[in-house]
Amino acid sequence: MSHKLQVGEMRASYLTDKEIWSHFNYIFSTKSKNSTTYKFVLIKSILENLYNVNEKLELNYFQLFGSFAKIYWNLVVHHDLNQINMVDKKSEVQKILLDFQMKHNIPKEFVFDKLSDEFQLEIINKVKRKCKVNVMGAIFGDTESTIYDFDNEKEVVRLNSSYYSFMQRFQRVLNYLTNYHLALFLEKFNEQDDTTNILIKVENVSKRSSLDQFYQLLTSYYEGRCFYCDKLIKKKSSAHVDHFIPWSFVQADQLWNLVIACSSCNLGKSDKLAHISFLDILIDRNGELLNKKELKNRSDMKIYTPNKLQQLYEYSNENGFTDIWLPKSTGLSI
Ligand SMILES: [Zn+2]
Repeated sequence: MSHKLQVGEMRASYLTDKEIWSHFNYIFSTKSKNSTTYKFVLIKSILENLYNVNEKLELNYFQLFGSFAKIYWNLVVHHDLNQINMVDKKSEVQKILLDFQMKHNIPKEFVFDKLSDEFQLEIINKVKRKCKVNVMGAIFGDTESTIYDFDNEKEVVRLNSSYYSFMQRFQRVLNYLTNYHLALFLEKFNEQDDTTNILIKVENVSKRSSLDQFYQLLTSYYEGRCFYCDKLIKKKSSAHVDHFIPWSFVQADQLWNLVIACSSCNLGKSDKLAHISFLDILIDRNGELLNKKELKNRSDMKIYTPNKLQQLYEYSNENGFTDIWLPKSTGLSI
């Protein structure tokens, strides 16, 4: 059975957009076996790690299932949502998380990133162990072994390059589709009270509750100046950590995409794309960060390249982020 596979080798190197759409249509259809939410959460996890791949388009399981564990924890523990198509049963990963919660007496108010680093690590490892066997082979089978290679021993997945490019080009709509189908599944197999605003819950399930660790780090290097207007920000409460490429597109928090902004720039920019002149400034800024010994081995900085940021900028624009923003005080115009 395909979902028990330990190693999967890709059968095709080139896929047309039409072929990839048909795989997605299959995964989201009733023909695909979706007795749990695993496949939806795996696709969400790949999407959120799209720019965390190395130059061979490989993603390690720790990153992939780090996202998976976070999403699952927030759905199961924080939102109390059942993840299997039977009301009186629980999915395997759901059981792992609920057991962990009970053993350590963790209140349901705690979202994943509020847990200690040790707890997060332990949970990710448990989830990884289970998903390796149950999840990696399932989508692989659904797509006729075409979208990725995986190796459960080396714990790495390598994305097909046409599939990767497809996900970049259609990232936003794929995100909408996945969230929609996940929400639909959850609505069907949960009590009505728990599914209030279900789509909003699903859309925000990956969001960090606080970007404070990034704030501490960035202000220690940049003395609290706004990245966009260069104004000195005097009070901590008026300094915001801003996703240069909007969070609603990247759905991830990499240091190389985060800057400190004053509140008027942050609120003005909101979900828009900053003017392209800031792209080069950020590339230079990231070059400076990479020169710092203590930062260059961070997992997000290790895989960063200027090209990645340029691609992300280009693709966010192609995915509909066409409103370009400039701070008021620069004197530049669009
Ligand atoms: Zn500013």
